[in-house]
Amino acid sequence: MTDNPVIEAVDLARHYQVRRGMFARPVELRALRGANFTLRAGHTLAVVGESGCGKSTLARLVTLIEPPSAGSLKLDGMVTAGAKGPALQALRRTVQIVFQDPYGSLNPRRKVGAILEEPLVINTRMTAAERVEAARAMMARVGLRPEYYHRYPHMFSGGQRQRIAIARALMLRPKLVVLDEPVSALDVSIQAQVLNLLAELQEEYGLAYLFISHDLSVVRHVAEAVMVMYLGQPVEQGPRDAVFNTPMHPYTRALLSSTPTADPRRRGVRIKLQGELPSPLSPPTGCAFHPRCPLANSRCQIEAPLPRAAGAALVACHAVEEGRIDATAPRGARN
Ligand code: SF4
Repeated sequence: MTDNPVIEAVDLARHYQVRRGMFARPVELRALRGANFTLRAGHTLAVVGESGCGKSTLARLVTLIEPPSAGSLKLDGMVTAGAKGPALQALRRTVQIVFQDPYGSLNPRRKVGAILEEPLVINTRMTAAERVEAARAMMARVGLRPEYYHRYPHMFSGGQRQRIAIARALMLRPKLVVLDEPVSALDVSIQAQVLNLLAELQEEYGLAYLFISHDLSVVRHVAEAVMVMYLGQPVEQGPRDAVFNTPMHPYTRALLSSTPTADPRRRGVRIKLQGELPSPLSPPTGCAFHPRCPLANSRCQIEAPLPRAAGAALVACHAVEEGRIDATAPRGARN
């Protein structure tokens, strides 16, 4: 396993032109901006935030489904911008994705064997016999009986279908797997089994995981680093323990305060966020979080905060910069 980053994102952004009526002028929707991170083999970065915070846009950029509007993205040291032909094919083999919905992400008309072999048919010169062997071996590796090779997806449970989706993602031996809410559609008892399988596969294949989730209790369990996003921008990112034990950004604190925990030392006063997530078509001026932030002041309404080092994390918040947040107070009871 090399120590080179499997993924390097610098100021990654994605904008869309959106019309709000047939004759209306298009407006710019800034779905993602200012995403900076690296991820090494064998490590997991979790991306968390409410629905609409830019997590799925980030997943589409990283998996090369869409190009970024600005910034740069490298996968396994290769620049993705402008890649075509064999270079693009090599990049696509580097990264795979597992979606939230194991029911919708598998073609119901294809048997499991054909689903698993499809990436090999498209991307390799393996013979039919080699593909069958590889598919059966991967089925066994993810905990599916190889004799299920001829079954259709509807003949499996939700957890088994997610195992099929994971197996399909690994058929080309990628270096990075984007896990887009991979367990949130599963029963709690099955979630633990699938998370354990993902951990084993990460160790065995040295996989890097970009783990997208709204569930902070799952994130605490799986990730070494966390990036918290709000309205298309990272607001706090750093090592998991720093973000979970001494959260600095008011949005991170509110998210954490609403996460159930069995440990009484981690419990604090629940912070209720006021209002709804604003529309990305007309984001608030200054700090995008200011209409909902209990610490907002006049500066927050006009000046967007930049990410700055705060302990081991990077935090975009004027209150942190101005020392108006006490990082040592119990969670949920801070300024
Ligand atoms: Fe709240 Fe101001 Fe910090 Fe934004 S910059 S999170 S509004 S204190």
